Amino acid sequence: MRYRTVVTAAIVLAAARAEAQYPRQSERLAMVDLIAARGVHDAATLAAMRSVPRHEFVPPNYRAQAYGDHPLPIGHGQTISQPYIVAYMTEILRPRPGMRVLEVGTGSGYQAAVLGELGAEVYTVEIFEALATSADQRLERLGHETVTVRHADGNHGWPEFAPFDAIIVTAAGGHIPPALVEQLNPGGRMVIPVGSVWGVQNLILVEKDLTGDVRTRNLLPVRFVPMLSELR
Ligand code: SAH
Repeated sequence: MRYRTVVTAAIVLAAARAEAQYPRQSERLAMVDLIAARGVHDAATLAAMRSVPRHEFVPPNYRAQAYGDHPLPIGHGQTISQPYIVAYMTEILRPRPGMRVLEVGTGSGYQAAVLGELGAEVYTVEIFEALATSADQRLERLGHETVTVRHADGNHGWPEFAPFDAIIVTAAGGHIPPALVEQLNPGGRMVIPVGSVWGVQNLILVEKDLTGDVRTRNLLPVRFVPMLSELR
C-alpha cells in the first residue's frame, strides 16, 4: 500500500515537472500523431511540430483548442493555418539547415517558427502591421533568432534578401506573383495556394530547375484566406 502511494506520488510529481518544463506536451504529441496518421512522414518536420508550442501562437480565448487539427482566428479576419496543412507544406518545401526561406503571410508566426526550428533562415512578410509586430515579439520571446519579420506586401517578395532556396505562401491569390518566381533560386521550390476567394483553390508546387526552367504541379485542394495587396 505504502509502496504504491509512493510510486503514485512520484508519477504525479514527474508529470507535473514535465508539464512545467514542456507545457501541453502530451497534447502536442497527440496532434503530431494525427498528422502522421494523415500521411506526413518527414521525421524532421514532425519533430519540429512536436517542439513548437502552438498554444503560444493563438489568442488567449482560443488557447484551449490550440492542439486541435483546425485553423483558429488570430484577429484582423486572419487565421493560423490547420496543423496538418502546416506540416504538409513544410514537408513539400524540404527545408534544410541553413536554407534561406521566404514566407508570405506571417500571421501568428507559427509556420515561420516551424521552419526556423528546422534550421532554416526565415524571412517572413505580413501585410497587417499589427500582426507583423505581435508575431515578431512572440518569435523573439520564444527564441526564434533565425526568423526575421517585416511589415510588407508579399506580392513583391523581399528583394533585399533574394534569391531564396524555398518560398512558402500562406494566403491565396488568383495567380503566382511573378516577383516570387524571380526570387526563387535555381533548384528551389515554392508552395503556394492559387484560386478564387470563395471558390476552389489549389495548392501548387513550383519548381525551378538548375537551368532556370519553371514547372508547376497541383498538389491538393485547399482553403486559405485571400492574398491582399494593400498595406494595412
Ligand atoms: N502562416 C500563418 C498563417 C496566416 S494566414 C501562420 O502560421 O499563422 C495568412 C496571412 O497572410 C494573414 O496574416 C494575412 O494578413 C497575410 N497576408 C495576406 N496577403 C498578404 C500579402 N500580400 N503580403 C503579406 N501577407 C499577406
